Amino acid sequence: MQEDRLLKLPGAYVIAIELNEEFVGRVGSLGQICLKPGQYLYFGNARGPGGIRARIKRHLRVDKKTHWHIDRVTLAGQVVEFLVVPDGCECSLREKAMALTKSVVPVLGFGSSDCRLCPAHFLAVSGNSVSLLRKLAETAGGKIYSVPSLLPTTAAQPSTV
Ligand SMILES: [Zn+2]
Repeated sequence: MQEDRLLKLPGAYVIAIELNEEFVGRVGSLGQICLKPGQYLYFGNARGPGGIRARIKRHLRVDKKTHWHIDRVTLAGQVVEFLVVPDGCECSLREKAMALTKSVVPVLGFGSSDCRLCPAHFLAVSGNSVSLLRKLAETAGGKIYSVPSLLPTTAAQPSTV
């Protein structure tokens, strides 16, 4: 119950994504990009109705139209876990994550078109993105969810967006 309430709040979130294969493709304004197989973190915020849950659900959908940069990557890879930080800021989470471990910006401007502070809202993690997510939760607060806890039936969701 507590967890459900948390997910309805507005705030920031971080999703851990695993790419099993190299991704090469055009991603909106970024043009052609190439991502190596590996682990990635994406930093976002959800301030609209439905809170973080609605946004995460969209990230998990397998039948969505690509709108954001990250949509191409979540379709190519797998969302493993996510961290929810109500009232958090995705930019400071990104900064903390970079300070905690060796991670690099794989594509300048990825996910950060509206941000003047960050080189990107997307990091390539050398090592394990899930353990980085745990370290991040220790310093920044928030709560980690595994994907099945939110959406046991992702593929069965009707397409409405
Ligand atoms: Zn930012």
